Amino acid sequence: MGKPTAFLELDRQDRQYLPAEDRLQNFNEFMVPLDEVDLKQQASRCMDCGVPYCHNGCPVNNQIPDWNDLVYTGDWQAALANLHSTNNFPEFTGRICPAPCEAACTLNIDDNPVTIKSVECAIVDRGWEEGWILPKVPDHKTGKSVGIVGGGPAGMAAAQQLARAGHDVHVYEKYAKAGGLLRYGIPDFKMEKHSIDRRAEQMQAEGVTFHYGVNVGVDVEAAELEAKHDALILSGGSEVPRDLPVTGRELDGVHYAMDFLPQQNRRVGHEDLGDITPILAKDKHVVVIGGGDTGSDCIGTSFRQGAASVTQLEIMPMPPEKEDKGVTWPDWPLKMRTSSSQEEGAVRDFSVMTKQVMGEDGKVSAIQCIKVDEKMQDIAGSEFELKADLVLLAMGFVHPIHDGLINELALEKDPRGNVAADTATYESSRKKVFACGDMRRGQSLVVWAIREGRQCAREVDFFLMGESVLPR
Ligand SMILES: Cc1cc2nc3c(=O)[nH]c(=O)nc-3n(C[C@H](O)[C@H](O)[C@H](O)COP(=O)(O)OP(=O)(O)OC[C@H]3O[C@@H](n4cnc5c(N)ncnc54)[C@H](O)[C@@H]3O)c2cc1C
Ligand code: SF4
Repeated sequence: MGKPTAFLELDRQDRQYLPAEDRLQNFNEFMVPLDEVDLKQQASRCMDCGVPYCHNGCPVNNQIPDWNDLVYTGDWQAALANLHSTNNFPEFTGRICPAPCEAACTLNIDDNPVTIKSVECAIVDRGWEEGWILPKVPDHKTGKSVGIVGGGPAGMAAAQQLARAGHDVHVYEKYAKAGGLLRYGIPDFKMEKHSIDRRAEQMQAEGVTFHYGVNVGVDVEAAELEAKHDALILSGGSEVPRDLPVTGRELDGVHYAMDFLPQQNRRVGHEDLGDITPILAKDKHVVVIGGGDTGSDCIGTSFRQGAASVTQLEIMPMPPEKEDKGVTWPDWPLKMRTSSSQEEGAVRDFSVMTKQVMGEDGKVSAIQCIKVDEKMQDIAGSEFELKADLVLLAMGFVHPIHDGLINELALEKDPRGNVAADTATYESSRKKVFACGDMRRGQSLVVWAIREGRQCAREVDFFLMGESVLPR
């Protein structure tokens, strides 16, 4: 334990954001890191609980009390080695993880959890700055080859683990660069993409080959890859968005969030957008339907593009301001949260159902809504109309794309339409074909994708070699 009495003496102090008027000028990250003195103090607040709930709350089971202590004592390199032993990409999670670890921290019982995510981010950022993070090239090759379909965080984590175990690893990615939703969904202001490029370079040096612009099941048959490799991992994400089946849905100006966000990420990344019609929020009244992370990203992107106004609608009732700790801790609580993007000036409304999209000359001009009760029943007389020039649908994702890859391999699906595979073996209904990440578990989080990629890699290694030293 860092300092036994620190949690009594020091308040929680976390990273701050640049003021909204500054951060809205560009798409850069705007989190201001803590300095070394503050970081050490914050790490020292960790009590090294006998049963560290944070460790269990973290999906990759980061050994949080251990690295808090190492930061407090100033052994940053040992902290980095410890962090990397459970998490391949802490610079991703240190920026965009919702930090269920902090909800589970014992000090969260009175709302003052250790700033775990900030300490994690500082450890790995320092590792990159100091040049401590180098490729880990295996000292022997197994002669086995693994194909991975999908270069998101699940595929990247699986690829890195398997390459380090000595396998010849090939990642097939339909887009121009690696990262999946981290690259094309999550905006740069939450995570700048050089973090992904740097990891992809490290992985190439470790023996991973990336094949970009290859849509498996469309450009190349999945069966061809299956025949070419000793094992195939499917980590293609959950890409089918939930639709809004109302009158007027087809009007110009009504788009899925994932038609809007990737365009901006590609602009920032100087990628060729091809001949697509640009979707831009400049001077528009934007309505975002859906209250989650994707919705928030649409808000922040719209404001940076110069939207006249942004309104976010959520069908669920407004959650309580504070959770009942006795009932929820150490689990993730349902409570009112305000994202940095929402804070930038969005109007939020809850218990709202969209009834119709209205338009003029084929273009959206307004939406008609009604308030609903907790059973999602219309509340008579509560109808209202909102002006809208751009409507973004951010209501989540239902399952992976079935056409192509999944149908071609005739894979069994779970009742929600994801690729059926359990977390003991990660093997699908087809021999030597494995699945992990959102493609297996459904729409989730980056940290869960990393966990599944790591665990799946271990199972594939065991399948190929009959033994494995990779951690689960
Ligand atoms: C807008 C948005 C914001 C989000 N914000 C957060 C956040 O703040 N924090 C958080 O933790 N999570 C967030 N998430 C969720 C998170 O991004 C995902 O859970 C995570 O990226 C899933 O990782 P994955 O590797 O399983 O799939 P993905 O990231 O979806 O990657 C799948 C990859 O497979 C490729 N692919 C698919 N099919 C094929 C094929 N047939 N051939 C070749 N390539 C293929 C895709 O192009 C993609 O690159 C967000 C999601 C969205 C959409
Ligand atoms: S990965 Fe997420 S849950 Fe785990 S320690 Fe980091 S911020 Fe917390």
